[in-house]
Amino acid sequence: MDATPHQSFGADWRNPAPAGVYDLLVIGAGPAGLRAARGAAALGARVALIERDRMGGVSLNVGSVPSKSLLRTARLYAEMRDAEDYGGRIVDGVAIDFAAVMARMRDVRARLGDSASVDRLAGAGIDVFFGHARFAGRDTVEVEGVVLRFRKALIATGSRSQTPKVHGLAEAGYLTNETVFDLTERPSRLLVMGGGPLGCELAQAFCRLGSRVIIAQDEPTFLPKEERDAAQILSDSLARDGIEVHLNTKVAAVRTQGGTKIVDLVSDDNLAQVSVDQILVGIGRSPNVEGMGLEVAGVRYDPVAGVEIDDFLRTSNRRIYAAGDVCLEHQFAHTADATARIVVLNALGARRERLSALTIPWCTYTDPEIAHVGLYVRDAWRLSIPVETYVVLMHDVDRAVIDGEDEGFVKIHVRAGTDRVLGATIVARHAGEMISEISLAIRLGLGMRDLNLVIHAYPTQASAVKTAANAYMRGHPPLWLRLSRRLRLLRRARR
Ligand SMILES: Cc1cc2nc3c(=O)[nH]c(=O)nc-3n(C[C@H](O)[C@H](O)[C@H](O)COP(=O)(O)OP(=O)(O)OC[C@H]3O[C@@H](n4cnc5c(N)ncnc54)[C@H](O)[C@@H]3O)c2cc1C
Repeated sequence: MDATPHQSFGADWRNPAPAGVYDLLVIGAGPAGLRAARGAAALGARVALIERDRMGGVSLNVGSVPSKSLLRTARLYAEMRDAEDYGGRIVDGVAIDFAAVMARMRDVRARLGDSASVDRLAGAGIDVFFGHARFAGRDTVEVEGVVLRFRKALIATGSRSQTPKVHGLAEAGYLTNETVFDLTERPSRLLVMGGGPLGCELAQAFCRLGSRVIIAQDEPTFLPKEERDAAQILSDSLARDGIEVHLNTKVAAVRTQGGTKIVDLVSDDNLAQVSVDQILVGIGRSPNVEGMGLEVAGVRYDPVAGVEIDDFLRTSNRRIYAAGDVCLEHQFAHTADATARIVVLNALGARRERLSALTIPWCTYTDPEIAHVGLYVRDAWRLSIPVETYVVLMHDVDRAVIDGEDEGFVKIHVRAGTDRVLGATIVARHAGEMISEISLAIRLGLGMRDLNLVIHAYPTQASAVKTAANAYMRGHPPLWLRLSRRLRLLRRARR
């Protein structure tokens, strides 16, 4: 392991002297905290930002950035593996250099971390403090023995990996997202616990980087929130990569023998035993709410759901707001960013921006990617909204065929009787890029008629969206077309 805690601050870091009462005091320098601190400073506010570990939070250090960096290299290896499908030939096989893969990941992280550096933030007029922040009262926070006063504060303390209760696991040792990116040696055999986005992405990455990977998910599908057909494509894809897939399976117990971890996997009808070198846990996230004096500040919270907020992101203490993973159901870097933006506007700009007004897409960056925005059909049913669905299979999309990436679909849900787009799921190599067009349509209240008017460059995979809109138009021709068709039929009948 190559851990680098507190690297943002350096050994001889000294916190600044507090500068009177802060207009906005931000706890946590992840995507939410950074966005809020920068946004508030740009408005001319006096801002304090407190971080106890690394600037950039989970996303930069142990989340989105390192995981997507590994996935990129993993895709390269998968393409080299499949070179013959494209008319290429790899002579003498492909050698995987794990140390070089991790070194690239660290370079990417350093490059993207530059904008979150303490120097850059201090240069923007933000007072940056290192240490664990704890509320000392309703308008004060204590850090490293110093008390800071605020008019408004933001809790952006994020989340951490949940700890599973499995007999023997703690003694055997396991990896989480906080430690897996510090590995210096590739595990030969890896068990991934959990089939959510984190588990699926890292299972695929490590498999393609040469580990023998087993994944255990205690539900009948991966990504249980996604549509069944999308989850099935992912399941097939993981199995095709060579991952040993165990669905409906619990990790029951772990013990060590020599350097090996022996794991009991239990499903309805089977007890299996697997031997691995490492276990990676990705079963969910817990909000960072403990040890912060939230009770003293009058901020209500739940240890599982996090800080309680209203639609304006205010907590039960009207001076204090929350944003990001610590209070949200949708735990993504972009929702952390979007909610922090709302906090700056509401806390400092006297605006009344609402959380419920956000259109939030998300994507699991496996191969193929699975992206979603808006309503699922099940949501529409629950809300008694009638829906029509338009599906285009990627194997009918020229560019997907050209690229050999023809697995997946674009599926758009429309409010029946209108052309209004309610939601979409895209399964495609670049689904994360393609979903933005649908997010824009939902955000602006656009319909399939509008999407049908968008000219897509040929050949692109995103043109599948237009093809879906075109299918809608064929079933719902405009009035002038319907009238001219009827007129033609009448004329023909008269002849
Ligand atoms: C492996 C993995 C992959 C991911 N991939 C993606 C992805 O591809 N796309 C995406 O959108 N999201 C992804 N996410 C989720 C994303 O990382 C989080 O949603 C995002 O980081 C949340 O931002 P945040 O600012 O709310 O909190 P965090 O990033 O968790 O930052 C909170 C900060 O607060 C600090 N802190 C906590 N308590 C205190 C305290 N008392 N005093 C001082 N400081 C404190 C912490 O040290 C931390 O730095 C991924 C997550 C993981 C784990």
